[in-house]
Amino acid sequence: MDALASRTVSVARTAKLLKYFEPVANLPGFARALARTLAELRLAQVSPADVSTTGLPGRDLGELLALYEAELADRRLADLARVLELATEAASIATHRWLGLPLLLLDSPLESRAHADLFECVAARAPAVLAAVTSGETTQRAMHAQSRLLESILRVDAEDLDDSAQASQGRASSLGRLRSQLFAVSPVAGEQKDDEFDLFSAPGEGLEAVEIARRVLQFARKNVAFDSIAILLRNPERYQPMIEDALRRAGIPAYFSRGVARPDVSGRAFLALLACAAEKCSASRFAEYLSLGQVPVSGQATSPDAATQPAADSDPAATEDDWVGPNDEMFGIADSQASPVKQEPEESNAPPAPWGWEKLLVDAAVIGGSDRWERRLIGLEHEFELRLSVLEREDEAQRAQLARKIEQLRHLRRFALPLIGTLAALPQSALWKDWLDRLAELARAGLRSPDAVLAVLAEFEPMGDVGPVGLEEVFEVLSDRLRFLRRDPPQRRYGRVFVGSIDESRGREFAVVFLPGLAESLFPKRALEDPLLLDEFRREASPHLLLRDDRTAEERLRLRLAVSAAGERLIASYPRMDVAEGRPRVPSFYAMELVRAIEGRLPELKQFEIRTRDAAPARLNWPSPPDSADAIDNAEYDLATLARALTTSSGGHYLVESNAHLARSLRTRWSRWESQKWTKADGLLTADAAALEILAKHRLTERAWSPSSLQQFAACPYKFALYGIHELRPREEFGSIEQLDPLTRGALFHEVQFALLSELKAQGLLPVNELRLAAALEWSDRVLERVAAEYEENLAPAIPGVWRSEIEDIRTDLRGWLQHVAQNDDDWEPVHFEFGFGLRAGNRRDPSSTAAEAALSEGVRLRGSIDLLERHLVKGALRVTDHKTGKPPERIPLYVGAGHLLQPLLYGRAAEELLGTPVESGRLFYSTQRGGYQQVSIPVTDKSKQFLAKLLSNIDGFVAGGFLPAAPEKDACDICDFRIVCGPYEETRLKRKDQRDERLDGLTEIRGMP
Ligand code: SF4
Repeated sequence: MDALASRTVSVARTAKLLKYFEPVANLPGFARALARTLAELRLAQVSPADVSTTGLPGRDLGELLALYEAELADRRLADLARVLELATEAASIATHRWLGLPLLLLDSPLESRAHADLFECVAARAPAVLAAVTSGETTQRAMHAQSRLLESILRVDAEDLDDSAQASQGRASSLGRLRSQLFAVSPVAGEQKDDEFDLFSAPGEGLEAVEIARRVLQFARKNVAFDSIAILLRNPERYQPMIEDALRRAGIPAYFSRGVARPDVSGRAFLALLACAAEKCSASRFAEYLSLGQVPVSGQATSPDAATQPAADSDPAATEDDWVGPNDEMFGIADSQASPVKQEPEESNAPPAPWGWEKLLVDAAVIGGSDRWERRLIGLEHEFELRLSVLEREDEAQRAQLARKIEQLRHLRRFALPLIGTLAALPQSALWKDWLDRLAELARAGLRSPDAVLAVLAEFEPMGDVGPVGLEEVFEVLSDRLRFLRRDPPQRRYGRVFVGSIDESRGREFAVVFLPGLAESLFPKRALEDPLLLDEFRREASPHLLLRDDRTAEERLRLRLAVSAAGERLIASYPRMDVAEGRPRVPSFYAMELVRAIEGRLPELKQFEIRTRDAAPARLNWPSPPDSADAIDNAEYDLATLARALTTSSGGHYLVESNAHLARSLRTRWSRWESQKWTKADGLLTADAAALEILAKHRLTERAWSPSSLQQFAACPYKFALYGIHELRPREEFGSIEQLDPLTRGALFHEVQFALLSELKAQGLLPVNELRLAAALEWSDRVLERVAAEYEENLAPAIPGVWRSEIEDIRTDLRGWLQHVAQNDDDWEPVHFEFGFGLRAGNRRDPSSTAAEAALSEGVRLRGSIDLLERHLVKGALRVTDHKTGKPPERIPLYVGAGHLLQPLLYGRAAEELLGTPVESGRLFYSTQRGGYQQVSIPVTDKSKQFLAKLLSNIDGFVAGGFLPAAPEKDACDICDFRIVCGPYEETRLKRKDQRDERLDGLTEIRGMP
């Protein structure tokens, strides 16, 4: 009916029939509100002419109602009003085996004129009729009208069956007083308290549901059958999920009268795709779709054309044309047991899972538009390759991580681009039948399990000729149906706790009734007027339309219904907090009214809140009962037991016996904090022969190391182990796209330096000196323009303005660097740039690079790449340089800088070994404005070599001995990427350890080296 109302609005707007509602008619939600109002008008048998005369809104509603009825007739559709009309006709003229029988109307309200007409016809054919209706007050218009309506249909006077004599004498039980004195003007004070009524509050709705489950279990232990217990809800949409969860945790079988609605991930993923199309292929919506994990198992989206073609090796019967029926009364709810289980592809055949694709999309910074997708995804791949070229120099683990990301990105591209093409090709506007065809193709191409979505689409097939409608309208109409997967309740409710709305308790009685949600704005709900047809117009349109006062009376009646459904016990409750919004709640006046009806006076609010809180000692910060015997599940049991153990120092021992992993974790914690000795809980510490054998393969002479790995040791041996042996790397965080990724910028700067030095060499402009500076600067601009243009094309930067500003920064850095070189280094001639060793060959390396590692006599195997090797024009000595784009250290070291600065010496020694020529010094050149063009130069002398040899031997000793403890330097943890592994207290904990352990001597020695 929503779709039909939507269609009606569209036709009316096209024909310019709307005057009053025109400004709001295209707002989301208008069509749904209209569907409700039209349904009510039709059930009240209000004609378009009746409503048209009530005013401006009524005039528009009259037009809409007429169009709506014409649509129903044209399409041969029947809404509820029409169904009741047909039934009434049949009851008056036809013969049916149920007509002519005695009739019992048990608390079933005649909700509308159409319902009343049907009842009147059926009652007229019945030889005897007994009608009972819950009352209790006759002053309210609705109740009065209801009993008067029955009286007029049946032509008898109603008899009041309420027995208030006992209550008026104050001797009735709590339930008796509730039934007779609810909303009474002057209730009589009760004489005694009993256990027929209870009221409690809980910190939030979730815990309120848990408390209900706990009490249900307590009743069950007293032999109260589950099916004689009911939980009656005023807000089933809000409360049912929490009740479901609490009963499931407690293992209580339940009958949910409205069935259960599970969030349907495939439906949500499909809606995310539609939203992506509506927002011009927005990447954030596509990332939302990916995050729901509904990508087809193959990880390959198919184009619509491909989707309609069965794969060559697939089952010929299983084609796109496999029809999925709607979930309705004819076809029933899809039964997972009845439908054949679809075979998942064998793991070995399945392409890699789409892990991390959402992150890649953020990295790619696709802002939207199908054309941008391809450019940005390819651009990101090139960016990763550029970063890879830098990392290849020394960080093997991060290189492998990046290589994996490139592979993932290629899979994402293969998957996403066809799907984005399909989304971009969706029509602006089409008939429903065309939409249904296109959407079914989209579901098959983009969803792992499209059946639930196809079933919903099938429900809309009768709407095929409606339209044309736009994507927004399609989204609006489908969204509610696709978000949740509904399952009907089981056929028999016996043996299960009844969970339903209060209205569904009419004519029923349960031994125990729970009534949750008696908080302000939850129950009673504020009665609002219909925004499309206010009460002043309703009164004129028909006496059978409900007004706001009627809705208020309905709320009061609901409280009566809940009370009257309780045979032996009524347990009401309310939440003290709105946990979702973090604000306190107060009990509603209905909660207070229950107590007033029993005790004869309104309780004082503060006392009332204390009393209800004490009735259920639930806590948000420790969600368990005081006594573990009252726990509804294992989690509550453990918490209750632990709470006791924390105060009595006993009772928690079972934890170490029940879970081996927890026991290990607790013992490890104890060792770290309480044991003075260094144990295996304090890092990578082992005396195990097999572990030592593995560690032996990481000794400095057994595998190639990079200087950056070796530099980690002095800060903390465990950091060195995590970085260099376990090869852990920090998880990447989403970065701002307002600047280039630092790694990309550094890589670009190196690229330009390499290209510029190569060009200057070809032009005979090396070494750069005062005379050659002007020409070098010109070449610098030209080379930068060339390299930047090449990379701009390849990387397709997300924001061109950001890119241009970074390039200008690089231009300034390059010019400053050349000027510095011309003034200070004009006697050093560059001979090799990007001289690689122990790395794979690449075209951005010096031709004399070698695949051989550098095996230093100090006892280490090295691999890496030296940015610049220069020869002194006079002395002929060599010097190695590593260009840095960051800031220089505050203290300039003499040799190894307490183990933190090894690159100059290690690269210098590597060059000596590989080229067979002495190297005078190694230096770090901070060659940007940020680094102030400063240098850190370390002479390669016998003394420095001795320091280096001792340092390397000490590190090697720690690896060989299996002793790599978490022993951080002061403040080292504050800037360590592995803090998430160790926790925040390592420096505090270190102070408790034995600092005199001689195994730490080698570390102390390194930290003292100049
Ligand atoms: S967090 Fe601290 S203890 Fe842990 S590895 Fe890093 S520096 Fe070492």
